[in-house]
Amino acid sequence: METPKSSTCSSPIVKQPTLTPKAIIYQKYANKASYKIEEILGQSSQNGCPGLAVSQKGPSLFRCHLELPDFSIVSQPCKKKKEAEQLAALMALQKLGIDSLQSSLTEPDAAEELLSRLSFIFSSEFQSSLHPLSSHLKAVSYREGELSGSIPVSVLSACDAKLGNLCRSLDARIESNPFLSIPLILRAAVRLSELLVVSEEDLWIRRRNPYPSNAMPELANQQSDVTNGPLTEAVYIPFSLNKDVRTIGMNLSFKGYYLDVIAKELGVLNASKVLISRTIGKASSESRLYFSALETRNFNSKLELYNAEESDSDRSFNIYASYLLGQPVYGNAILASVAYTWRGAELFNEDVSLRSYFRMLVARMPDGLFKLSREALFVADLPRLFTTKTNWRGSLPRDLLCAFCRQHRLSEPVFNVVCNSDQDLPGPCKSLANEKSIMGFTSKPGGDVATFIPNQNEVQSFSCEIKVFSKNRNLILESSPVDNFMKQGDAVQNASLKVLSFLNLYFKQPCISLEELSLLGVKCNINCHSTCFLKEFSLCQVMHKVQQQSHLLRGHKLNLNHVNPYNGLISVENKQLSIQGTACGSLPSNGYLVSISYSVFLVSEGKKKQEILEKSDEFEFEIGSGAVISCIETAILQMTAGQSVCFYMGMPQSEVVLAASMNSEKVLSLLSSTPCCLEFSITLLRLTEPFEDRMEQALFSPPLSKQRVEFALQCIKEFSATSLIDFGCGSGSLLESLVDTPSSLENIVGIDISQKGLIRAAKVLNTKLEKLEAVMPRSMIKLAVLYEGSITAFDSRLSGYDIGTCLEVIEHMEEDQACLFGDIALGLFCPRVLVVSTPNYEYNVILQKSNLANQEEDPDDKEPLLCKFRNHDHKFEWTREQFNHWASGLALKYNYSVEFDGVGGIQGVEPGFASQIAVFKRNQQDPLRDSGLSAETENQYKTLWKWDASVS
Ligand code: SAH
Ligand code: MG
Repeated sequence: METPKSSTCSSPIVKQPTLTPKAIIYQKYANKASYKIEEILGQSSQNGCPGLAVSQKGPSLFRCHLELPDFSIVSQPCKKKKEAEQLAALMALQKLGIDSLQSSLTEPDAAEELLSRLSFIFSSEFQSSLHPLSSHLKAVSYREGELSGSIPVSVLSACDAKLGNLCRSLDARIESNPFLSIPLILRAAVRLSELLVVSEEDLWIRRRNPYPSNAMPELANQQSDVTNGPLTEAVYIPFSLNKDVRTIGMNLSFKGYYLDVIAKELGVLNASKVLISRTIGKASSESRLYFSALETRNFNSKLELYNAEESDSDRSFNIYASYLLGQPVYGNAILASVAYTWRGAELFNEDVSLRSYFRMLVARMPDGLFKLSREALFVADLPRLFTTKTNWRGSLPRDLLCAFCRQHRLSEPVFNVVCNSDQDLPGPCKSLANEKSIMGFTSKPGGDVATFIPNQNEVQSFSCEIKVFSKNRNLILESSPVDNFMKQGDAVQNASLKVLSFLNLYFKQPCISLEELSLLGVKCNINCHSTCFLKEFSLCQVMHKVQQQSHLLRGHKLNLNHVNPYNGLISVENKQLSIQGTACGSLPSNGYLVSISYSVFLVSEGKKKQEILEKSDEFEFEIGSGAVISCIETAILQMTAGQSVCFYMGMPQSEVVLAASMNSEKVLSLLSSTPCCLEFSITLLRLTEPFEDRMEQALFSPPLSKQRVEFALQCIKEFSATSLIDFGCGSGSLLESLVDTPSSLENIVGIDISQKGLIRAAKVLNTKLEKLEAVMPRSMIKLAVLYEGSITAFDSRLSGYDIGTCLEVIEHMEEDQACLFGDIALGLFCPRVLVVSTPNYEYNVILQKSNLANQEEDPDDKEPLLCKFRNHDHKFEWTREQFNHWASGLALKYNYSVEFDGVGGIQGVEPGFASQIAVFKRNQQDPLRDSGLSAETENQYKTLWKWDASVS
């Protein structure tokens, strides 16, 4: 095993956890150190000469001025403010001759330090300090009888960070098993025999001579007469799986030593026989596990974790407590929040409820903290993508990953941002091959980033590599920096999200083999060092097995489907989905922000509502990002604002249910006695359209979508078209207008792959056509059909129509698919006229500016102005040049002519139209199938809805 000191890993980022230069400066100077950031605008790093080339735009750099009482330092320019500050601090430290990366103490030094720390702790000087340990010393001195003045050794290592650190530098194994510091401290204390009396057997240390009488101020609660104060609630975690975890009340305000009370609850003789864990949970938490030292008699032999085969000696292994702590715990354990504080001698104590215990268990899941941070354990899910900070709700992925590593006693993850700059990007495109390279990196997940920056010929993109190490610095996984983003922050957040999702996959099925695990990693672009990985998470496997066993033991089936708690039920529930309230307004789709209210009930057999588990008056999320469990999204996609829905689902892991409920005791007993399920009631409160739609409405009058429809109507008129196919008709915005507006059209067809959009289109068209029929029976439209299918497939029924439209669709397909569509449309469908519209990428600068004007800027996010795609479902957005290139090539290939036009903006004025439009016209009157494409004669499309005037 690699010890921290012998780590000679070549990677410069693998360092001992050390203080940052800034932290060292702070220790030394506190507020007397002042940092000022200077922004160097539009400066390229090679010519570090501010003010010279203001017109030459580039990303801003930052320099930090650090003022110290004796001198000041100016850092070199850095890309990030924080980097500049650290650099300035580092430069200052070098000037001061302080080595910030100081290696840890050598062994003999540490042993010496340990002795001196111990003798200091037992000095009368220490008695008068406000250190929590001094309160312990006072408390034990008030004990009656022979234990008077004896302090349990485990208190020493648990309550004094310095002792803990010294022990760790003496024995690296202490990192993973802190209780190994107990024999170390005992042995050191034996060497101080003049000062201390030690019982290695009974695990206590005492001062040989009493303290001078004046060095013994009274403990606050020693004076009080309270012998029966309110009981402090704690959680009792039995090692036996046949017994339920329960709460106990402890009388901690009595006259005596609180650890003796805990010892009594644990059934051990006195406080010296109690082991105290590090704090668990939040950073400020005082929650610790207390358990019997008797079960852990030989600290050394218990180093290795629980092994199922070793059943005899490990009969008392406490799996839940061990899982919670991340290190082996034997015997029954108590989770309590009680401690002496730094403020003085008063005893701090707080109730620990069953609910908080279960929340701690949930927080250990890779997605647990996210769900907890959203306060939506049943509804929230770890999103697949980090799109923008504004659309993200809950803790950020990077923070979640760091917290996860802390929870699981791993080292802080290492983030390595890779900057890719490409001189050729984006420039006017020269060839298709070149375009590919541009699009190649934007079409990946999270592609809400842009590749175009005006007036700048160097484009940078960022990707992020993440490495996760064990506490002992073994690499357990590394994710490759494959996805590129225009912002460093986005790269880091998305990479963190990917690692979390991978971990989540593992946690849902922890009993997987080494090979399966590596394979799972490969799929996520994660190189998983399976052996180390499984070793770190071995308790998860045990936990998983134990849970399954214990449920079998209890003789009833709780639906503990770990692979996906809600899968399987979705389709069933979906069929019975009964949506309440009348539909009005639009249905949400990808990119919409929706706001719902919901409640989740625990329902027992016979659909009897038992207990409210979770409730929210307003819960907001982005559709299509995977931010909620899939069946909720499925339901919401069929609802309009104001509608409600109610459905039932199977049980997720019982910890989740117990972590949510305010009445854990009742739920616990329910879960162990009756089969239960969950009832969800959801109301869709509000929808907010995606940025693209909002922007199209806010910035253009009439809205851009309307202008596109007008444009299409114009073309229909011009060519006296009688038949039309709308490729990618979505929810029918164009078809709807065609019904409203009298024209030469008689036969209209819409095709889309989205059934949801088509259903909405069908409803609207049906109502409109029926109304029209009632007022004007001889209206022009005789046939209207909606087909479900991909516009990259050909259906011979739709060949040779007068006009085809394809408005704002191609950018939703991968680039090669968009090209395929071009071939199929002009080579096989062969309409007389084809109108294709798509966003003009160059116009985004203008949208971005007006967007920024409306939004307050994020101060942490001061990166150079970059354009984003208008909608995160877009796989690409083309410049005029790219669009022209595609359309001209296509026209030539299939004997069409093509003209370029657009809506939003003015022809010939930079940067062109907001939506660019190509109008293809067939040169040949008779479409011949000489395109080389083989036309399938089958009917590729599924008819979803049909309106035939001659029949009705
Ligand atoms: N033309 C509509 C909808 C544009 S949104 C309007 O202007 O309002 C883009 C639409 O393209 C979506 O409805 C999506 O389902 C559809 N789409 C994406 N890829 C498709 C494909 N391969 N075949 C058919 N439709 C597709
Ligand atoms: Mg679009």
